[in-house]
Amino acid sequence: MESLRTCKLFGVIRGVLGIKGAIPLIHGPIGCYYHIKYLLSMRSSRPVRILSTEMDQNDVVFGSEDKLHQKICEVDEKYSPQLIAVLTSCASSIIGENIDNVIEKAKNNVNANLLTISSGGFEGSQIEGYIECLTVLIDLMDEPVEKVNTNNGLVNLIGQYRGGPDLKIIKEYFDKLGIKLNCVLISGCTLHEIKKVPEASLNISMCEASGVEPCELMENRFNIPFLHENLPLGVNATANYLQEICKKLDKEYIFAEDEERAERELKAYIPYLTNKKAVIVAGATRVIALTDFLSELGMEPVIICLDFEGKYTDFKLDKIIKMRKINPVILKQPDYLEILHETKKLKPDIIFGGMGEIGLSAELGIPLIDVMHGQELTFGFEGAIRLAKKIRETLEAEENKHPNKTNPNFFR
Ligand code: SF4
Repeated sequence: MESLRTCKLFGVIRGVLGIKGAIPLIHGPIGCYYHIKYLLSMRSSRPVRILSTEMDQNDVVFGSEDKLHQKICEVDEKYSPQLIAVLTSCASSIIGENIDNVIEKAKNNVNANLLTISSGGFEGSQIEGYIECLTVLIDLMDEPVEKVNTNNGLVNLIGQYRGGPDLKIIKEYFDKLGIKLNCVLISGCTLHEIKKVPEASLNISMCEASGVEPCELMENRFNIPFLHENLPLGVNATANYLQEICKKLDKEYIFAEDEERAERELKAYIPYLTNKKAVIVAGATRVIALTDFLSELGMEPVIICLDFEGKYTDFKLDKIIKMRKINPVILKQPDYLEILHETKKLKPDIIFGGMGEIGLSAELGIPLIDVMHGQELTFGFEGAIRLAKKIRETLEAEENKHPNKTNPNFFR
């Protein structure tokens, strides 16, 4: 009843917002638009443009295809976007509005490209939304004229929805290796780049739950092989991520010195962080990466909460748990009460999550590190050092605030 998940529309909107010059137009009532826009603006600390046809009671009873047509023309005139993505909501999906028909009629009256994505909230969670969005974009891609040259050094990231410093550092590593980022699906890419995705030699899935399926689809359709390594979060994971890409593209791994230096720097944090207990609340991709990294720091992930799983999640998590000799409680798709109950029982020192865990942190007085927003560097060798530093500073600040917290009676 207190799920960590949200609706399909959320995932579709995040996907569309990752395309340069695209505007999502929700064919639905104002609530769908308002809450998602509010949340995404808060999370990214910047204005986010999402529009709505603002369906009312009359529209839901009698249909509102004419209104949608009029709104598409209005969006084109007022905002001049390159792409208007018309997204259904629960209301328009349930009454069966014929969006394709409206788009067919409207396309002669507007300059923007138009497409529709089925996004009714009841059709699934945000993960189904990401997958649906990626699948629709795959249909826009140009068939490659020639068979892809396996050494052309062009790579796509699939299921990467954040820009910011993490994406920037991946680009820097790729530059040093002579690898060119062909398209990031979906973060800051243009329609032109999307069409050219099949020219790449390699796809890299960056999301356990939503990246693998589109990669499989593109492997079948365009013959592009793919990797689904753990995120480059932590020294060990960064080295592995880059080494696997080098192997696949016949490149020499040139980061041995950076790796050694980061390992040395990280060692300075281990005596302080050893045996500190952590709760991780995130999607499968971050959960896997953080479980490995926190263990690398000598910390003990005592509770792992997964809101989504991918095809390989169990296998990857199991491998890390065995290798790191840890024994966390794993909660799959838990609700808030379950997490609260386990957290009270296991008395962790720190929580890793996102804005959704602010309440848990406040309720139990346990510090939270937000690993879900994209404004801080967490990837790469440098990201590992920064994150270790942040964990130490957060724990020290907490100790200074509550010097008696080590007392076993602190938690009630
Ligand atoms: S669940 Fe349905 S009504 Fe609620 S925000 Fe999502 S699309 Fe809108």
